[in-house]
Amino acid sequence: MNETPATSAEVALLGHYLDGRRTVGTSGRHADVCNPATGHVQARVALADAAETERAIARAADAAPGWAATTPLRRARVMFRFKALLEQHADEIARLISREHGKTVPDALGELTRGIEVVEFACGIPQLLKGEMSEDVGTGVDSWSLRQPLGVVAGITPFNFPAMVPMWMFPVALAAGNAFILKPSEKDPSCPLRLAELLTEAGLPDGVFSVVNGDKVAVDTLLTDPRIGAVSFVGSTPIARYIYETGSAHGKRVQALGGAKNHMLVMPDADLDQTVDALIGSAYGSAGERCMAISVAVAVGGIADALVGRLTERARALKIGPGDAEGVEMGPLVTREHLERVKSYVDLGIKEGATLVVDGRSCSVPGHEDGFFLGGCLFDHVTSEMRIYQEEIFGPVLIVVRVPDFDTGIRLVNEHAFGNGTAIFTRDGGTARRFSHAVQAGMVGINVPIPVPMAFHSFGGWKQSLFGDLHMHGPDGVRFYTRLKTVTARWPSQATGSEFQMPVHK
Ligand code: NAD
Repeated sequence: MNETPATSAEVALLGHYLDGRRTVGTSGRHADVCNPATGHVQARVALADAAETERAIARAADAAPGWAATTPLRRARVMFRFKALLEQHADEIARLISREHGKTVPDALGELTRGIEVVEFACGIPQLLKGEMSEDVGTGVDSWSLRQPLGVVAGITPFNFPAMVPMWMFPVALAAGNAFILKPSEKDPSCPLRLAELLTEAGLPDGVFSVVNGDKVAVDTLLTDPRIGAVSFVGSTPIARYIYETGSAHGKRVQALGGAKNHMLVMPDADLDQTVDALIGSAYGSAGERCMAISVAVAVGGIADALVGRLTERARALKIGPGDAEGVEMGPLVTREHLERVKSYVDLGIKEGATLVVDGRSCSVPGHEDGFFLGGCLFDHVTSEMRIYQEEIFGPVLIVVRVPDFDTGIRLVNEHAFGNGTAIFTRDGGTARRFSHAVQAGMVGINVPIPVPMAFHSFGGWKQSLFGDLHMHGPDGVRFYTRLKTVTARWPSQATGSEFQMPVHK
């Protein structure tokens, strides 16, 4: 599948995590895991077959009732220990991520921190699971609502956040009393395996958390097996739609987060320094491989020339290199295939008539000539008919669309197929308020470039960026991983005899 040569015989074999330990794969199928900075294969990851995936489900189904019966306070204590272990091993985990994903080590530490924050949220599970109680809903009748775990739930995650995205899911799911099966991206599987080891070290009983590495075969087994109660997915839109449709057709609760094309509206009164800093970080950080990257700058009115001028200088000056080198701002793309795909979008933009102001296609990093590097690319004069505007590129390519006024700008955002996140940069409170009220997107920033909600709020987009209805982590996460039960009770001393009509309040 991957044409990149291995440099040494020491290619690690990565299997699965089942029953509290690492196991080898038995399917005989593997995928290469590259170091994007060198372009070399550094590991091979097992791709589970249906039987291996079913074994993980069976083990999770055995472990789930005991874990659900463990009190929320005790489950929270496992999360407290897990948080401490994540902090203790933060540097090691960040380096694992950087070696397989390519992002810089400080950026990897940042995603880990955002994941740890969800663990901190999950530590509050006794409080989060508190139900609602109404006394005297009828004479001598009380009623209360409580939330119970679903049993076995699964998470399927993308390559771009191998720590944070799985941790949007499993801390809340586990704390709520479910067993969890993670099917991470086959491109960077080491971090999820390490997280599994730390959960065991934190005291999570064997079988409650498993990692099944694999591809469509493992995913399809998780989507169709009746023992799985819910599936959380994050990845590209075509796969998100498939996961939602297939999982729902098999009676599962599904939340499937898809792709993005996040716009930033730059108003004529915006602070230009602050805007350019924000755009450069959010468009080129992590080589643009972020679902919350700003990939479209919408320049309103007369600000366009100054904005493009400043962006050009900064995009040309980006410090590009391997993710573990000091002072690097942008690492390589994840695979050679993805690099070629992003470059082909740059070629397409030129053909479509956009102006390529900064061309990063000839970027080469000394000593890392085989790495998957692409310099920052900047397009001006992009229009909404172009494919480089309509489609997600998922690389370090920022496009600028010029519009005459606010109304045209917000219409552009609202008419786009994706609705993950968006931002406005302005000094005017009234304009910011109009924007946040009327814009059709799930997450909105006001003078904030990447509006990723904190762990105690929920994360999710609108339109083609989310299939399903509940967002991830925060209050929606607790709702997604639990079922509501409402109990109505009357004690014998209050009995009223047989009633044949619909019970009503008396
Ligand atoms: P992807 O859709 O290719 O893969 C995601 C997961 O689905 C992986 O685990 C993969 O193994 C699995 N998968 C891939 N093809 C499949 C198939 N045919 N059938 C079943 N499973 C399949 O996404 P990716 O390239 O890993 O990640 C990048 C994408 O994720 C981008 O589109 C990005 O916008 C999106 N993303 C979205 C969010 C969000 O919050 N909305 C967050 C992060 C990433």
